[in-house]
Parts: sequence; C-alpha cells; structure tokens
Amino acid sequence: MTEATHSSSRWSLAIHGGAGAMSPEIMDEAMAADYRAALTQALEAGTAVLRAGGTAIDAVTAAVCALEDDAHFNAGRGAVFTYHETNELDAAIMDGRTRAAGSVCAVTRTRNPVRLARTVMEQGPHVFLAGSGAEEFARDHGMEEVDPAWFATDERRRQLHEFKARKDGWFDADLKFGTVGAVACDADGNLAAATSTGGLTGKRWNRIGDSPVIGAGTYADNRACAVSCTGTGEVFIRVGVGHEIAARVRLAGESLAQATQAVLGEVGEMGGVGGIIAVDAQGNLTHAFNTKGLYRGFADHTGRAEVAIFTGE
Ligand code: ASP
Repeated sequence: MTEATHSSSRWSLAIHGGAGAMSPEIMDEAMAADYRAALTQALEAGTAVLRAGGTAIDAVTAAVCALEDDAHFNAGRGAVFTYHETNELDAAIMDGRTRAAGSVCAVTRTRNPVRLARTVMEQGPHVFLAGSGAEEFARDHGMEEVDPAWFATDERRRQLHEFKARKDGWFDADLKFGTVGAVACDADGNLAAATSTGGLTGKRWNRIGDSPVIGAGTYADNRACAVSCTGTGEVFIRVGVGHEIAARVRLAGESLAQATQAVLGEVGEMGGVGGIIAVDAQGNLTHAFNTKGLYRGFADHTGRAEVAIFTGE
C-alpha cells in the first residue's frame, strides 16, 4: 500500500452500520437500496463537516448521530432489545489529537448516546460513565432526553421474540449486528473515531460489549490510526482490537490494511465475527470483515463517495 504524505487539502471518512449475514440471496434489491440510501445520508452528514474544513471529531459525531437517529441501524432509535425488552445503549468517542476519550454504557434515555460520550470527554473529569450516573450527567449538561419508547421499533421487538423462541445461545444466529461507527482524518491530519450500539439482541445482566470500551471497539491516536468495530463484542474486547491495530501500525511499522487484516484474523481464530473500519494519519482508509456483509461507506477529498453492503462490492 502506498502511504501518501498528508497535505492540507486531504480528508477522508469511513462509516459502518454493522456487520452481518447480509448477502444478495437474503436481501432483496429494494431493501438493499433502502440501506444504501440510509448509509449515503450518514456519509453525507460527516462529509459536509470535512468538506467545509471542519474537524475529524465533529465529522464522526455528525455521521454517528445520523446513524443513531435512523431506525435501520442498531444504535439510538432502532436499537436491539435486551432480554427484558428494554433498550440499553452504549457509545464511545475518541480524539486522536490528545487521545481524549468519552464513553457511556447502559443508557436508556439520552437521544444521542454519542453526543453524551462526547460531553463526557469534553466536560467531565472521567472517561467512562454507566447507566443512571451517565444519565444524571446528561441531565446536568442539558442533553436531549427522550422517552425510552423513542428507541423501540416493531422489527427489533420481533427479532427479540424470535431470539427467545430459539433459545440457541447468546448471539443472534442471523448475525444482524447493526452497530454504527465512523472514523475520520481531517484536513489538518487529525484523527477521530466514534461507535454507538444497542449491543446484542437478548443481552442480559447489564452486559456491555466492545463498542464503548476504549481500545477495543473504538480507538484513535494521531500517531497511528482511528478504528471503529462491529461484531461479537466479547472477542473484540479480549483482543483489544482498536489498540492492537494502532500498536501494529505505530510500533511494528505495518500498513493500516495489513494491521487491520491481521487483527481481524486473530478475532476470527478466537471465534469472533464482525467488521472493522479504520483510517491512518495519512488519510488512508481501510476496512475488513469476516461476515457475509458490512454496511459501510467511504468518502474523501477527491470526490469519492460510495456505500456498499455485500462482499466483493
Ligand atoms: N459489537 C457490538 C456489541 O458486542 C454488537 C454489534 O457490533 O452489533 O455490543
């Protein structure tokens, strides 16, 4: 891979809307077109920030907010249900300039968990807040609250009932993950990453996945890269995916694409499935997934703006 030198006109952005069993055989053209339109809208939300000379941290916030508000994806509105038929949301954001980070988990009322994560990063002394404490912090900072019904959709409720009827394990057998995320490199060469999720259908005991865990599902370091993940969170946590990719780039001199493939390989060897998007400090974008599909989108300063779902696109 050729690593170009960063110049002030360069910026790039990648988004994902989750990995899963999506293939042309099980997804008809109308449904695929619907998802492509939703991805395009979120990609445009982030692109608009970067095109106007905005920062990577603002771009990933804008893209992830758009995906949270869109019921197609498992984050914010449209989040999957817990075993007890509630929506518990996790999100994280990280600024590669300073490695400042903010995370929240098991949030049930904040409309945009990624905004709350950002407020934790910028306006509080801590990195990671959970549940009612996170929500108290949200109220103290005047963040928009919604009735929990805002997050619930009939399709996710149906998926929970289907999951309970099967009783065949902890993971949705169809692997409809749907977590969302974004990574960006702005015109100043600064990196940022953000991830937001409802977690896994049927999750119990205040289960938290990799998405809000800094160094696992979300990581950004200007010295290396920014990473956002989706997949079997337990394995992504054990591998420390985001930090591991950054360490390979920074310390082992691997290209971003090599490091991303190698770390996803480790995830696979440990029984994990999912996808990764990443960008390095030169603005090179990469992605990898070991599921059939990954909802994804890419844009950069050259005018590239594309979305894809299936393998080989
Ligand atoms: N990684 C998320 C989690 O384990 C799930 C997903 O990617 O959809 O919570």
